[in-house]
Amino acid sequence: MEGRGKEAVHKCHSDPGGSGRRGRSYSGRKCVLTLDGYSYVIVASPPERPPTKEDAPSPTGEMPSINRNGQLSKQGSLTIVRRSSAKKQQRTTSEEESVDSDDLTTDNLPAIDTPDACDKAAARLRCLLKQLERGEISADVLQKNLQYAARVLEAVFIDETKRTDSKAATDRSEGETTINITQRKLKTPVWAVRSSVRKKEQGEESSRRLADEDDELSEVQPDAVPAEVREWLTSTFTRQLAPTRCRKEEKPKFRSVAQAIRAGIFVDRIYRRMAASGFMQFSPEIVEVLKSLDDWSFDVFSLGKAAQNQPVRYLGYDLLNRYGCLSKFKISLQTIENFLNRVEQGYLRYGNPYHNNLHAADVAQSVHYMLCQTGLMNWMTDLEIFATLIAALIHDYEHTGTTNNFHVMSGTDTALLYNDKAVLENHHLSASFRVLKEEDCNILSNMSREEYREFRSLVIETVLATDMSCHFHQLKNMKNLLSLQEPSIDKAKALSLVLHCCDISHPAKKWDLHFQWTSLLLEEFFLQGDREKELGLPFSPLCDRKNTLVAESQIGFIEFIVDPSMSVCSDMLEAILAPVVAPAAAKEVKRSVSVSEDTRKHHEQINCDDAPPPFTIKKPWLTCLAENKKIWKERAVIDAAARAAAEAAAAAEAEEEERRKQEEEGQKSEGKVEE
Ligand code: 5GP
Ligand code: MN
Repeated sequence: MEGRGKEAVHKCHSDPGGSGRRGRSYSGRKCVLTLDGYSYVIVASPPERPPTKEDAPSPTGEMPSINRNGQLSKQGSLTIVRRSSAKKQQRTTSEEESVDSDDLTTDNLPAIDTPDACDKAAARLRCLLKQLERGEISADVLQKNLQYAARVLEAVFIDETKRTDSKAATDRSEGETTINITQRKLKTPVWAVRSSVRKKEQGEESSRRLADEDDELSEVQPDAVPAEVREWLTSTFTRQLAPTRCRKEEKPKFRSVAQAIRAGIFVDRIYRRMAASGFMQFSPEIVEVLKSLDDWSFDVFSLGKAAQNQPVRYLGYDLLNRYGCLSKFKISLQTIENFLNRVEQGYLRYGNPYHNNLHAADVAQSVHYMLCQTGLMNWMTDLEIFATLIAALIHDYEHTGTTNNFHVMSGTDTALLYNDKAVLENHHLSASFRVLKEEDCNILSNMSREEYREFRSLVIETVLATDMSCHFHQLKNMKNLLSLQEPSIDKAKALSLVLHCCDISHPAKKWDLHFQWTSLLLEEFFLQGDREKELGLPFSPLCDRKNTLVAESQIGFIEFIVDPSMSVCSDMLEAILAPVVAPAAAKEVKRSVSVSEDTRKHHEQINCDDAPPPFTIKKPWLTCLAENKKIWKERAVIDAAARAAAEAAAAAEAEEEERRKQEEEGQKSEGKVEE
């Protein structure tokens, strides 16, 4: 670990009185070590002693405190404090060191855009406060120091807006476009960890590793974790037998306190990770299916079967874990399990053939493809990724299996509640956020107020945009935006279009998947038609099971809805991602966004050889859309022929019937004449 720079002991010094705030002398030892982005400050204190005359009172007159509760420690102590980041720790230390400094001259301050400047400004502000309390500061010194602090803050702010793990900021200077972006790497799925354990159990790969890529046992350098800890890990978390040790090694001896602590932290991480993997039992069947989770034509039906109709539970957990949402937003395993189970149940409530948990999992997986395979995730913050995945998972929560039109026409309570506007979408959101309010399902409980507001706003906007009545408006607006020379694309609008496209993406998947979805959706439509008939309402389009042209309607849906949606979405992704992936190609794409593939090819041709090729994303949906349309067209011809044949047969039968009737009537009248 040390060799890879993941873990480093930053400072390890004895402090014979140096950092005693008020000149108090004590011989504590302090060690700061960094692990996994956290700083652990380990302070070893000697037995405490009663205050003596040397312990001068502070300027405010208080005696140095001995211990918070007034007790004296006889044995000394070891205190471990975890801080959120190394940077914060460094700042705190320097703050402490300089807070009481009387030197407030502003001649030799660090440059304002350096980390040192932050520390210095913070320390200066504290010092100013102290001096203000004492009433002994000159206006000039105060002014100069405040000016410095203000400039540092401004520099930090500007720097933050350039920070690209949260926002892919564009810095335009002299016509140049530079984009800084964090290259995200997804976590290893839990089931991959588990399957490697299983392989070990089967003896296939005795040298394979136990934990995931961050925590692999084999990565632990011999001196990072003592041999006894390593053996315990091996014997506890793998099926390997702990080797018997030589007698002289029997007494465990940690080389240093820091090493012992480091080992403890490491064990704790492994333990938590193992506990995590124990919570979801990913059966071998589920693991097998999830191996192709990153594919555009992922087989969600197989997942449904393998997961015994709990696809949301497994896929939801896997995705949220892979994108690091569970750890970033400190979601407990029990809470995420409860939440996903509730979402799954909500989807099963009305027993819909199409709008059920499988559709939710399908849309979430398609969104995952867009995030990870196009690189979109690198343009997004952790919060936006989390919100987008949750939006996909809940976007049809408690769907009634009937359309908005049905709700309005039959005057359901939900239509009344939402005044006939985006009736279902409003319900999916409202009901989901109610679930999130329940304590045992509240996966948002560790968010700050601002994070919660941003999350909620993004989920609401993206799910409301799945209302099909927004479709043309949404597409037109995005097209217009992309036709601008330098389009500035709003995150929420972009993510809404991505979710909308994923929601209607099955016609852009492989035929057998698309065909299954089509059959399920039509069955749901026909069930609605049956209810409309019962209620004496006119049939909604495609809901009359006797008079619906399936192939034709699917061709129309692909040609007029799905194809244009995927095309605008592709253009949008290319416009967004070109500067992220290949800044040089950005301008080319800017000129060619919002135009079709043909225009782009033409553009490529007229570009001279030395111009960089325009940036493009992979579009596996293009071949699927073309193939599916072709198959529907063939079916449409067959169906039309079958319909024509059926009509001809019906006409012939009617003619025959007529002929028979006339014959009968003729015979009757002949009989009457004979009588
Ligand atoms: P959702 O109801 O899933 O949020 O929004 C997607 C909508 O797109 C569906 O309600 C349905 O109206 C439409 N849709 C999805 N797939 C198909 C399809 O294969 N054919 C047709 N005609 N409409 C579809
Ligand atoms: Mn949907």
